[in-house]
Amino acid sequence: MYFIGTRGSERVSGAEAVVRGLAGDGGLFVPEFFPVISQEELEGMLGMDYAERAGLVISKYFDEYDGEALLSALKTAYSRFEGGDAAPLVRLDEGTYILELFHGPTCAFKDMALVVLPHLLRKGCELLGIQENILVLAATSGDTGKAALEGFKNAEGIKIQVFYPNEGVSSMQRMQMCTQEGENVSVVAVKGNFDDCQTGVKNIFGSEECRAKTKERGYLLSSANSINVGRLIPQVAYYFSAYCDLVSSDQIAMGDKVDFAVPTGNFGNILAAYYAKRMGLPVGRLICASNKNNVLTDFFRTGNYDSRRSFYRTMSPSMDILVSSNLERLIFELSGRNAQVTAARMKSLSETGKYSVTSEELQSLRTEFYADFTGEDDTVDCIYEYFTEYGYPMDTHTGVALSVAARYQEKREPLDPVYPMVVVSTASPYKFPQDVLYALSGNDVKDSFKCIKRINLLTAMKVPEAIKSVRYKPILFKTTVSTAKMFDEVLKFI
Ligand SMILES: *Cc1c(COP(=O)(O)O)cnc(C)c1O
Repeated sequence: MYFIGTRGSERVSGAEAVVRGLAGDGGLFVPEFFPVISQEELEGMLGMDYAERAGLVISKYFDEYDGEALLSALKTAYSRFEGGDAAPLVRLDEGTYILELFHGPTCAFKDMALVVLPHLLRKGCELLGIQENILVLAATSGDTGKAALEGFKNAEGIKIQVFYPNEGVSSMQRMQMCTQEGENVSVVAVKGNFDDCQTGVKNIFGSEECRAKTKERGYLLSSANSINVGRLIPQVAYYFSAYCDLVSSDQIAMGDKVDFAVPTGNFGNILAAYYAKRMGLPVGRLICASNKNNVLTDFFRTGNYDSRRSFYRTMSPSMDILVSSNLERLIFELSGRNAQVTAARMKSLSETGKYSVTSEELQSLRTEFYADFTGEDDTVDCIYEYFTEYGYPMDTHTGVALSVAARYQEKREPLDPVYPMVVVSTASPYKFPQDVLYALSGNDVKDSFKCIKRINLLTAMKVPEAIKSVRYKPILFKTTVSTAKMFDEVLKFI
């Protein structure tokens, strides 16, 4: 399978798309077509474990990679997830399910793909005969950074550097990153918000001069953000897996449609759901849930994407984003895969902060997606209510999604079809302990570890090892820089 750029005429192998991360003209790589998973194949997946299901889905795209080696890497990676199942589906009540994607090494859904990306990158370099070392750069709103650091730590021939917004991550997220061990890792705080970090990293990628300077030192740049297809494709797998679990447990019949509600920031997770649908998975609607930074809600309602607005820091920091990078891939599909139109829109976004789609395009978006947002109070109420009623504790991001999903189901027109709703849970409640404790009990406690203890007492939910162990680890990274100095940090590191 080849991959093409969203803004131009590039056409490259899967390995090259993964290693380069971004197309030369700043566009994103997308598959040349959507491979189909037939109903027979889907039936065959019912008896598989998560690694096998993921192997099947990923191999459809990365078919030049050795399938055996991929499967073995997947088995090793997912066997380390706590509890034995990498993506368990929990039934809340008739027709509402939670897909838990937080049982990996860093307790957020980013692990689902970032445990696989190192394999795709390393084998990709082998396939391409690349001699240089690789420098992976990542901008993070909190969770990608830690998951990328864990995924790549001590990987041979690869260094990883993470930039996070100084004031934009939870204290647990910061502790997780700044205590990261490993010979080949670096963590840098940036003055600004996530969008500043992401733009800073994209600028480094886009600069000939930066590329030349890193190359001089023997390094090629690659990306661990969801702009890299090596992140996106492994995420498609859990939508298939959730569907199989629904069929296996007789909650639905094979072929029945389901809706997915996804707490959305950079649009990577929900885009993977859209890819799953294009591959033939019976999906009804995709529910795009945002917090107060509701640029996507407005876009899906009006067809105008406008990032010129106030930025809010919320209790769901991984969704505090105004420029959702992966939306470019959807825009590309929407325009009938027109690279010129996509390029023009992205140019308008970077020059004026906005762009629009046509009313026909908006119409077709609306048949696939429903978008809404939830404020802080409603998120808190939702977490409290579901805990009180079902004994189910959830994190703040999942709270946003469930609250939007519940409102969607209430607001539905009488004749609209009713499909089971799978809400994607993207983080462990222990990753955002202050806000989760506040939601559950009304107590505003500062100390993260005290919160963790109280949540544990209240919910009896096991505290993940990855969270417990952070407490006594030394802080290894303390540097803070302005966006203008990010590349200096790169040069210091390599
Ligand atoms: C990254 C993240 C999100 C947003 O996912 P996108 O793919 O960026 O839309 C939501 N919740 C959590 C906990 C995350 O870490």
